[in-house]
Amino acid sequence: MVKKTASIQQDYYPRPPIATVLGHVDHGKTTLLDYIRKTNITAKEHGGITQHIGAYQIEVPEKIRKKESNYAAKITFIDTPGHEAFAKMRSHGATVADIAILVVAADDGVKPQTIESITHIKNAKIPAIVALNKIDLPEVNLEKVKKQLSKAGLTLEEYGGEVPLIPISAKTGNGIEKLLETIIFLTDLFQIKAKINEPTSGVIIESSVSKFKGITGSIVLRSGNLRIGDEVINDNQEFKVRAMHNWQGKQLSEIKAGDPAEILGWKVIPIVGSLIVKKAEMQLETRPHEELDKFVQKPIVAPEHTEDAQRIKLIIKADTQGTLDAIIDGLKKVEIDIIHKGVGAITESDILLAKISKALVIGFSQKPNDQVLKLAQSEKVLIKTYNIIYELFDEIVDVIEALKKGDLVTILGEAKVLELFNFKGETIIGARVIKGRIARGDAVKVMRNKTEIGRTKIKSLKHHKEDITKAETGSEIGIGLAQKMEMLTGDSIISIG
Ligand code: GDP
Repeated sequence: MVKKTASIQQDYYPRPPIATVLGHVDHGKTTLLDYIRKTNITAKEHGGITQHIGAYQIEVPEKIRKKESNYAAKITFIDTPGHEAFAKMRSHGATVADIAILVVAADDGVKPQTIESITHIKNAKIPAIVALNKIDLPEVNLEKVKKQLSKAGLTLEEYGGEVPLIPISAKTGNGIEKLLETIIFLTDLFQIKAKINEPTSGVIIESSVSKFKGITGSIVLRSGNLRIGDEVINDNQEFKVRAMHNWQGKQLSEIKAGDPAEILGWKVIPIVGSLIVKKAEMQLETRPHEELDKFVQKPIVAPEHTEDAQRIKLIIKADTQGTLDAIIDGLKKVEIDIIHKGVGAITESDILLAKISKALVIGFSQKPNDQVLKLAQSEKVLIKTYNIIYELFDEIVDVIEALKKGDLVTILGEAKVLELFNFKGETIIGARVIKGRIARGDAVKVMRNKTEIGRTKIKSLKHHKEDITKAETGSEIGIGLAQKMEMLTGDSIISIG
């Protein structure tokens, strides 16, 4: 054991940890980031023009810097707070941050986005610190918030867990030094270091087009180094790094692991969350994006999380706490992991979380809006919505079985179109279920021979004149589709989720 530690210290060298700030709206994330930025600039850097490049870096104040050479002297902060930005970066496979700072306002306590943030942090498996903010306000009850945090699934250090909690005021600066010290402490504890001779890999954290600079893309380097003139690859583009500068507008000739920089030279706007690597370090016989996957940095694994890859993961959103509790209770016997649950609409953040963790999204009396649906479609995330609780229980077992057999889009059943009727201006499709089962609410694709002619949902289902929720193999049914489609007899309606 001792030997191992010694070798770790030889192969690795200190690098700035990368921290990100999450939490509920108005709990003080921006104020905290502003305070840290303003109060930790070294004298020689004063006067630089602050530019938003998506991340900034501070020098660790002298008095809290550890003297040993294996401690980082700088900290990089991702400058776009919130779990949406965090999820967006992660949705492409890379985790940018090493440490998450969860900001919770002491006067407001744990709120829905606090809970969402906790889910994202746990999912990313990175160490976290709670910054219990606004302690300058009168009559705040810190103990109450700590209990709420424990209830929300955070195991606080003072209750025997591993998450430190630092009371702060982002307004007065009280406690912020302690927060920075705790970041350095965790950097050491989790061995957040750079490895000697590791290939270069960076994550795009922001991109834009400007009239003067052309395409800009900011990156945080997770490993290796990058110099002006280096040939790099990002997704399907290759280019030479033309210029780099930091958040104070200073030109840089080289950046190293843990450093952020805005880079020029891009041919197309890079996607946030995508990777950048050096061309010279790629094996050219493989396709760039396959090769890029190998460079995805594995996050530092916080010890308490274990995962059973076989279990199906669910994100459940319901209209009220009562129904949510009933659903969770009803699903107790089913072998699933509920990775996130909540009251309210299905959000884009739910979709991104589902994508990252390969989960299925269940909505009860919750219809996702168009934007969320579009995202789900492009990210290939399956959403199932229900309005009747027993229908949900009945269906979910089928869906989970289908999911276990294959990927997220698995055939649940197939019906052949026999006849088409017009009923009150709507087309009703007379069909026979020839495989599996067809259920109301299913997403379906319509196939003519081997060609897909469209996708929609099953709006209504009838057997003779009776409304039904599900039909098994062999039954003859009347199907109403959510969207009008030019159908022909002989077409197949395939249920995909
Ligand atoms: P964000 O939405 O989480 O980024 O929150 P902001 O940083 O915009 O802060 C929301 C509001 O809370 C603003 O009016 C801030 O001035 C205020 N605020 C932030 N931190 C503190 C604090 O420590 N104490 C007090 N009293 N107010 C704060």
